[in-house]
Amino acid sequence: MAKKREMMKCKKCSVPLEGFGYKWIAKPLFGILPSKKKKGLCNKCEDKK
Ligand SMILES: [Zn+2]
Repeated sequence: MAKKREMMKCKKCSVPLEGFGYKWIAKPLFGILPSKKKKGLCNKCEDKK
C-alpha cells in the first residue's frame, strides 16, 4: 500500500514546494522556490513582511 505523504506547501500562499505541482507549475511558471531562510514558505512569501 502506498503511504500517504504530505506534500510540502507554502504556509502562506499554499503553493506546492515539491512534487508535480512544484516541478511543472510553480517553478517554471511562477519562479517559485522553497525558502531557505523560512521553512514552509516559498521565496515569494519570504520576501514579504
Ligand atoms: Zn508562498
